Amino acid sequence: MGSIELPAMATKPKIIFFSDFDGTITLKDSNDFMTDNLGYGAEKRRQGNLDVLENKVTFREAFRDMLDSVDTPFDECIRILLDNMELDPHFREFYDWANEHNVPIVILSSGMVPIIHSLLVKLLGHEPDNIQIVANQVGSRNGKDINTKGGWEIVYHDDSHFGHDKSLEIKPYAALPKEERPTLLYAGDGVSDLSAASETDLLFAKKGKDLVAYCQREGIPFTVFENWSTILEETKRMWEGKTDPEAIAAAAKESANL
Ligand SMILES: [Mg+2]
Repeated sequence: MGSIELPAMATKPKIIFFSDFDGTITLKDSNDFMTDNLGYGAEKRRQGNLDVLENKVTFREAFRDMLDSVDTPFDECIRILLDNMELDPHFREFYDWANEHNVPIVILSSGMVPIIHSLLVKLLGHEPDNIQIVANQVGSRNGKDINTKGGWEIVYHDDSHFGHDKSLEIKPYAALPKEERPTLLYAGDGVSDLSAASETDLLFAKKGKDLVAYCQREGIPFTVFENWSTILEETKRMWEGKTDPEAIAAAAKESANL
């Protein structure tokens, strides 16, 4: 039963790597791109983001509002995103290493599964076999075909005010008995990653993003990354037993205080 509830445990890995998708694995955020270019535009989107930060609306409401402003057929949205999104230049190297070293990658995203899957297939050039995608879904709006104008809407993963509470997926892994529990790592760039990151042993927070300040305030062990080459180096060293999450977080804290 464990393998059904905890798919990333099927191969008994030493490390499981959880990651945000948009802005972490990709360079740009695909949902922002759709809202800005196909929906009501960047200005209204930024206002929506501010309203969330000031607790005027929930992320769930603001995000639905942004995506509802996009009436482009869903297949057309995917085609446009495939032309405009890029992977972090070092993610493929990380993917290959993880695949060879039995390190499952679990993407936890506020985006939609079919978009993430299509982008990974195109950008990696093959099915992302070593990646599990846990994200929101897409569904028909008012009974229409999703591939028609105004035909689709986001279908949230759970009832949380995030739409997708990323910590839900990690908690059962974090609760495994010590002798079975792999090292749990997380990479992210946004505030929605904070609840998830607090469940893992170490967070890689993208340099220059809000998440860094939040981690400092909340006392979450973290280190900063610019791209996936840093993540790969540190993960390799942990896998080889040359360092551990505490040592990396302590070194990051020390260099921040210098
Ligand atoms: Mg992100």
